[in-house]
Amino acid sequence: MVNPKSADLDGGLYLVSVPIGTARDITLRALDVLAGVDVIAAEDTRSMRRLLEIHGVSLGDRPLIAYHDHNGPRVRPKLLQWLREGKSVAYASEAGTPMVADPGFDLARAAREDDTPVTAAPGPVAAIVALTLSGLPTDRFLFAGFLPSSKGRRKSALQELVATKATLILYESPKRCAAALADMAAVLGADRPAAMCRELTKKFEEVRRGTLAELALETAERQVRGEVVIVVGGADRDSSNISSDDVDSRLKEVTPEMSLRDAVDLVAAETGLKRRQVYQRALDLIGRDADNDFGSGAVDGIEANGEDGDDAE
Ligand code: SAM
Repeated sequence: MVNPKSADLDGGLYLVSVPIGTARDITLRALDVLAGVDVIAAEDTRSMRRLLEIHGVSLGDRPLIAYHDHNGPRVRPKLLQWLREGKSVAYASEAGTPMVADPGFDLARAAREDDTPVTAAPGPVAAIVALTLSGLPTDRFLFAGFLPSSKGRRKSALQELVATKATLILYESPKRCAAALADMAAVLGADRPAAMCRELTKKFEEVRRGTLAELALETAERQVRGEVVIVVGGADRDSSNISSDDVDSRLKEVTPEMSLRDAVDLVAAETGLKRRQVYQRALDLIGRDADNDFGSGAVDGIEANGEDGDDAE
């Protein structure tokens, strides 16, 4: 065992990453910082105490202060006061890296505004572990945090991501996983490759890969437990590969769920085609299929939304 060094540290704020499951996934430097700082602030003081115990770091008579979203405004001034006095303060969230879907942003910003040095003892982030295990492209990725919990706002948030070419990484609660995957399949496209990464670095770690439609179906049939990250392949916007039939069938697929205006926007974003081109396909379809569902639904959409064919490029 390597003993943490409680070496003298310069004053300033140390943003310390902690494990996301397995206690030994902490860096030696993070332990040195936790052993050496004057004050430790933690989102969850109980889990911090446990971590210090596991790694043989003595707290001694140093303060261990709870700092989280609810008490931030009350506790921040005290931490900033210590920092102004030249003390070293470590901040760690309950798991992984502070500020990644976790508190710490306001504290770091206030410290910087005070000209206090802010540095990091980096380490685990669930989003990055999931990305590396997902099998999806890692050259460009976008971390989108948690989706909204209400269906309507979740779908709008997904619509904003539909044209993103980078691999998408999303955090999700186990109880909303099935609904979120179903919405992702409907909005981002049923055939997008994806991975559901559960309980990373823990005993029951699991990575399930498939299309969004497959994962949505599978997840609807079982209870999801533990912590989950969903990784989704980026949009393929190479419009040279997209046939008119592809556009027609996608328009038919999405029109029952939304207005014509939204359907055109969505298909244009997904395919990278010009909005005007997609709108023209939709009009052709209405003309051709006036008697079927697409025709009547789309015409309703036009009337309801006052679609006038303007091009929003
Ligand atoms: N700060 C953390 C980080 O650096 O990843 C994230 C904290 S956020 C409040 C908690 C969410 O992170 C969970 O709901 C889950 O989506 C994801 N997460 C954290 N640990 C995980 C793990 N071991 N396996 C899978 N997902 C995890």
